[in-house]
Amino acid sequence: MEVILSSPRGFCAGVVRAIEVVELCLEKFNPPIYVKHQIVHNPYVVRALERKGAITVEEVDEIPENSIVVFSAHGSPPEDFQRAGERGLHVVDATCPLVTRVHNEAIKYSREGKRVILVGHRGHAEVRGTMGQAPMILVDDHSPLDIPEWNGDTEVAVLTQTTLSVDDTAKAVSKIKAHFSNTLIRNDVCYATTNRQEAVKELARLVDLVLVIGAENSSNCNRLREVAERHGVPAYLINSADDLREDWVRGAEKIGITSGASTPEVLVDEVISKLKPDDVSTLKVIQEDVTFVLPKELRSK
Ligand code: SF4
Repeated sequence: MEVILSSPRGFCAGVVRAIEVVELCLEKFNPPIYVKHQIVHNPYVVRALERKGAITVEEVDEIPENSIVVFSAHGSPPEDFQRAGERGLHVVDATCPLVTRVHNEAIKYSREGKRVILVGHRGHAEVRGTMGQAPMILVDDHSPLDIPEWNGDTEVAVLTQTTLSVDDTAKAVSKIKAHFSNTLIRNDVCYATTNRQEAVKELARLVDLVLVIGAENSSNCNRLREVAERHGVPAYLINSADDLREDWVRGAEKIGITSGASTPEVLVDEVISKLKPDDVSTLKVIQEDVTFVLPKELRSK
């Protein structure tokens, strides 16, 4: 049996930066360091940081006054910053710069008087953070589209969650455009999401099945599984080698593996070890060289 690894896969620049922010805070300040929401959506990463002294919480109010808190890569609504200020917390913001860009777009277009639509998944941390920035309507890209009943000539700005399916987003956006003659469309699906989906499409052509390594609550991992399946092969999202089922891979000659933007490579290595393939190769579809600078207060380290 042969394993073909999709490239790019795994950590994106926003995840690398967010993990580094927590690690530097643990070095610079005395643990515990609080992290609001999972720093990135991967339990392995979260547990590794917790072993070093990070404590993950969901609400600002759970954090003792005057503590250090890192806000997760997914972005946070302004109320969380305000509440943190009221509790005397020192906030280090690990929001991915590409998510911050969406926040800034929301504020700008809303100030310009446009009605803002966000295409995304209700309840996702990034969507909660973005929706807090300005008045906007959420349109879910998965469920039947619930287009707002505004006049057809309303000036509309359409923003998107960064980790959606590229193809579903295009469909959702074209439905919105069909309702409003005056739409400004921002494609906010990020480079990492786009590249991993492009790569898995190519991978699906070559293999009998695709394993996506990553967490169940990771949006981009779920999208990778869907994209692979839509391109004609069975696809399974697994957290780690422990979730691998013998009946999925029995008889397969070529197994494709990819991983989400928050999945550490060690989890991919463990799956390969468990599969014991005769050969491992890499399908390199896109080269990535994106990096993001750290928040100002951590740059000197
Ligand atoms: S998936 Fe995209 S938006 Fe999210 S942290 Fe990575 S680079 Fe940033």
